[in-house]
Amino acid sequence: MHKVIVALKRTGSGLALVTAALGLITAGVVTARIPRSPLQNKSGTASIIKAGRLIDVRNGRVLTDQGILIEGDRIKQVGPISQIQSGAGSVPTIDLSSATVMPGLIDCHTHILLQGDITAADYDDQLLKDSIPFRAIRATVAVKAGLMNGFTGMRDLETEGAMYADVDVKRAINLGYIDGPHMFVATRALSSTGTYPLQGYSWELKVPEGVQIVDGVNEIRKAVREQVKYGADWIKYYSDRRYYLKDGALHSWVNFTDEEAKAIVDETHRLGKKVAAHAIGRDGIASALRAGVDSIEHGDGLDDELIDELVNRSVYWCPTIFVGVYVAEGRAAAGAPIWNKMIDLEARAFNKAVKKGVKIVFGTDAGGFPWTENEAKEFNYMVKYGMTPMQAIQSATINAATMLGATDELGSIEPGRSADLIAVAGDPLTDISLMEHVSFVMKSGKVVKK
Ligand SMILES: [Zn+2]
Repeated sequence: MHKVIVALKRTGSGLALVTAALGLITAGVVTARIPRSPLQNKSGTASIIKAGRLIDVRNGRVLTDQGILIEGDRIKQVGPISQIQSGAGSVPTIDLSSATVMPGLIDCHTHILLQGDITAADYDDQLLKDSIPFRAIRATVAVKAGLMNGFTGMRDLETEGAMYADVDVKRAINLGYIDGPHMFVATRALSSTGTYPLQGYSWELKVPEGVQIVDGVNEIRKAVREQVKYGADWIKYYSDRRYYLKDGALHSWVNFTDEEAKAIVDETHRLGKKVAAHAIGRDGIASALRAGVDSIEHGDGLDDELIDELVNRSVYWCPTIFVGVYVAEGRAAAGAPIWNKMIDLEARAFNKAVKKGVKIVFGTDAGGFPWTENEAKEFNYMVKYGMTPMQAIQSATINAATMLGATDELGSIEPGRSADLIAVAGDPLTDISLMEHVSFVMKSGKVVKK
């Protein structure tokens, strides 16, 4: 009983929220709730943002001379600036009349507890030499860096051996102790024995695991339950490894039997959560689709048949293009030239997927490259490979929020949403690289960059 009381206190909004959440889960619908920070922007503080140009991501259009009334951490009203100003009385105005304003961005694939891992040595060093508290301290810098780049939302897809430290970082953000995006976290991720680093050490040594290692349906169900118990919003698993080309297609070794992969998805869905599968080769992608996952991560080996399957099953694809380009040379030099070929494969798959109408969400794998790189570089590649700038921005806003089940809270500038807004000088719809120069960031009604 004592434990239950503590848990309810920690949720902040109390029993009503818990009951509401349970109701939604039993109805088979999972809607994300973004907790309100007690330390951030108390209700009552109001401001008006004067937007010279406002991107309406829902309708894919640009509106001019708009006003956005912010109250506390919420967007209260949106409309022509004259109308908003006359209705609101004497409220301080933030003048962004020479800028383009849009919803805060959402990166659907990050690793806040990783600091770049081109080679196995980079990765092993972090797990062998850095304590989890040290890595969590660096993660607080990573989330701040992402926020300053305009990312007010992140789906962090596993801690790479740092256990549940993502849940702690998320909590510290939600309580207002540190600045960072709204976090959706996956905790430890799953893979099977012998399929994930650390590898290659003497059998006499007990070395850390980059994921939770599970074999067989019982272990899988228990691990999913554990991860959800300790705060996982999503379950991530590694569907494949060891990528190779054969007959022009990118193949891979699959980590789980169909029975095991289906158990991951079934148990996760039973608990009202969603599944993201790392799947690069066509064998790994096909296995994940058979299992019924909600999102395919990376997906370099997607071909026509698999793309059609993605569309038919309404599965999201999170391509992570920039990281592939970033690590290719280093990984090729370390003995895996396939990573160079995967750049072209990813470009081809992306172009086809856009044409066939796959639900693509913006994701970068930040942490796979250092947090000193701006993850908004992904936009450039998305446009180069076949998206319009508007489609690329939608993939990082409303489409990402839809995948996360959070459209009531995030992803658009509409009344009732969390006041998460960014601005860039100039027009990103004619020059997408402007997304790498976000000059204004507001998260939950608080200006964090001006
Ligand atoms: Zn990743």
